[in-house]
Amino acid sequence: MSEFELIERLLARTRQKRGDVVIGPGDDAAVLAVPKGHQLVAATDTLVEDVHFRLGTAPADLGWKVLAVNLSDLAAMGASPAWAMLSLTLPASDAAFVDALGDGFAALASRYKLALIGGDTTRGPLALGVCVLGLLPDGTALTRSGAKPGDLIYVTGTLGDAAGGLRCLDRNDSDADELMAAPADTREHLVARLNRPEPRIAVGHALRGVASSCIDVSDGLLADLAHICRGSGAGARIDAGSVPRSDALQRLFNPQQALAMALAGGDDYELCFTVAADRANALSGDLARLGCAATRIGRIIEGEGVQVFDDDGSEIHPRQRGWNHFST
Ligand code: ADP
Ligand code: MG
Repeated sequence: MSEFELIERLLARTRQKRGDVVIGPGDDAAVLAVPKGHQLVAATDTLVEDVHFRLGTAPADLGWKVLAVNLSDLAAMGASPAWAMLSLTLPASDAAFVDALGDGFAALASRYKLALIGGDTTRGPLALGVCVLGLLPDGTALTRSGAKPGDLIYVTGTLGDAAGGLRCLDRNDSDADELMAAPADTREHLVARLNRPEPRIAVGHALRGVASSCIDVSDGLLADLAHICRGSGAGARIDAGSVPRSDALQRLFNPQQALAMALAGGDDYELCFTVAADRANALSGDLARLGCAATRIGRIIEGEGVQVFDDDGSEIHPRQRGWNHFST
């Protein structure tokens, strides 16, 4: 099957009509109409086999996830998804793979009426890249740089699930026998959190004009919160006991393991944000009504860096802080 037939198959699965797509896929570039009073928000993220996902991951999951990790960046800015471009590098021309990938991508794209407006298709080691474009009312972007000492720190959902899911898939894991003996639905919950993350778009909207800073948790809470600290010129103090962990994670792993995964696991795509103390209650109520509760985990302080305290109030020093591609 030729490159062009593969592209046709992909596009057939992801057709989304939008009035603001002036020229869609098929020409040398796409042309888009940005509505008045809005700013364009752009993000890009790539998934590489063996680095970001395991060999044999279902192509529909890959299609979902490569879009989800990008939408998560838009969520962290408070933006509404509008358009995406997809760069595909495939080892071989495989129609069934492309069909499933397109279906997984479209399952998430259709929720946001996001249009696939173009991309690139090449042969090589399996890798998927997406560039997403979203819209924001002028001047309303959430950033990493607005946190102030005294602000409360929140995180949506639960953390560590994706890291737990990854361990469930690893047959060489030191606890592989124990993990396999656990109820299948517990394992499946964690694996689904790894393969089908939910970008917190609605939360990002609710945070506009309210949160003082925001980031999505892709590399691990400690690493990502440290970006807010650096960006804001402040420090953070978090209470380890308050970091939300799912029942599934706590059923499968001991408390130390679950905490390590929640603090540094990465791949969760929840939002971590800060908010002035006097606005926090109203905001948590709004988020709960959206069906995405946020948990208070600590406070912004003067200084720098992220400090972690246990239930007795003693500082702990987690060995892992988060994921970094180029750390030694
Ligand atoms: P060019 O050679 O001018 O770069 P291509 O042959 O790469 O163009 O692409 C032809 C058209 O198909 C373009 O509009 C491009 O955006 C679209 N396209 C190519 N690959 C993909 C893909 N993976 N997903 C969506 N659109 C794609
Ligand atoms: Mg061209």
